[in-house]
Amino acid sequence: MNCIFCGIVSGEVKSQIVYENDDVLAFKDLNPQAPTHLLIIPKKHISRLAESQDGDAEILGKVLLAARDLAKKFDIKDFRLVTNNGKGAGQTVDHLHFHFMAGRRFLWPAG
Ligand code: 5GP
Ligand code: ZN
Repeated sequence: MNCIFCGIVSGEVKSQIVYENDDVLAFKDLNPQAPTHLLIIPKKHISRLAESQDGDAEILGKVLLAARDLAKKFDIKDFRLVTNNGKGAGQTVDHLHFHFMAGRRFLWPAG
């Protein structure tokens, strides 16, 4: 499988990792859209949220807890957490990821 984020998990692809535990990795987005723009991913390859299984519940929960921990670690009170599910929603990398963004005002509804 040729997955760039699996490459980041294995260390074959360089990234700036900011958080890691057994199931989850977070690293800086290559093309940041906010002063803080991190990507939180499950280490397990899940292509998108719609492809997750009931058995992934613990991993998915850990992804959300990673967002909580990152906010604490970087002393961030306001942040946006986004996942793009499918090409039409803007997904360009087929490995589940949540954008953790902070440091500017965000429009709502999201563009
Ligand atoms: P998507 O468009 O799928 O929701 O988000 C993919 C994100 O991954 C984009 O924000 C893009 O900048 C980021 N990205 C793509 N390739 C790499 C990479 O090799 N390293 C890092 N750190 N981010 C990447
Ligand atoms: Zn992958």
